[in-house]
Amino acid sequence: MRRLTVLGSCGAWPEAGRACSGFLVEYDGFRLVLDLGYATLPRLLARCPGGEVDAVVVTHAHPDHCVDVQALLRVRHFGARGAARIPLYCAPGVVERISALEPSEDPREAFHVRPLPGAYRVGPFRLESQLLPHHVPNAGVRLTAPAVTLAYTGDSGPAAALAELGAGADPFIMEATHQGDPASPYLMTAREAGRWAARAGARRLMLTHFWPGSDRAVSVGEARETFGGEVIVADEDLVVDLTVASPSRTSER
Ligand SMILES: [Zn+2]
Repeated sequence: MRRLTVLGSCGAWPEAGRACSGFLVEYDGFRLVLDLGYATLPRLLARCPGGEVDAVVVTHAHPDHCVDVQALLRVRHFGARGAARIPLYCAPGVVERISALEPSEDPREAFHVRPLPGAYRVGPFRLESQLLPHHVPNAGVRLTAPAVTLAYTGDSGPAAALAELGAGADPFIMEATHQGDPASPYLMTAREAGRWAARAGARRLMLTHFWPGSDRAVSVGEARETFGGEVIVADEDLVVDLTVASPSRTSER
């Protein structure tokens, strides 16, 4: 089973019934989490009740991407004492942010911290990462394994590095916070995401990190102006098969 499950799709703060950035990547039983923003943990626990994942990857220290790592720490601290530490690959500032939430709980009790950007072997994956432009250090990540290539921007403005990060990705998970004209060097519009997905030669583009309240159909329309491949809208509980080029929603919602 090789699949991607969307835990959350909102940027900044979670809309009612949704969550901020988070994805679960499963590959032949290996479970890797990409970001754990606000409200993602209950959705992760619906699939991994004891928080028993094999690796956590966090792109940057903003709370809409990392705050529920502290909640996962509590699951491991109180609910799974003595369990093996989970590798946590994260950008600068993430561990400090988690520690500051509750100084008496040390993230290093539950996590084996490995810095990003960097390149690692993570279970079946080769993980590569590179810094992308954002308000704080943000590590975009690329995961490759036999028959699977996916990439994820975290939060990023437009940058040439995106073409390399997402080369041939299927899908290229791209933040598309804004609509309309470019508004920031540190975040993208859907049209910009489409443009960089096209330059990367991505097979499929998954739009995510939508500004709360925005009409996602508008974002899809704008991305289609610049990207000719399939555009997928990240949506809580959406499951995408990583080896078959068609997303499918499960009945788990
Ligand atoms: Zn964000």
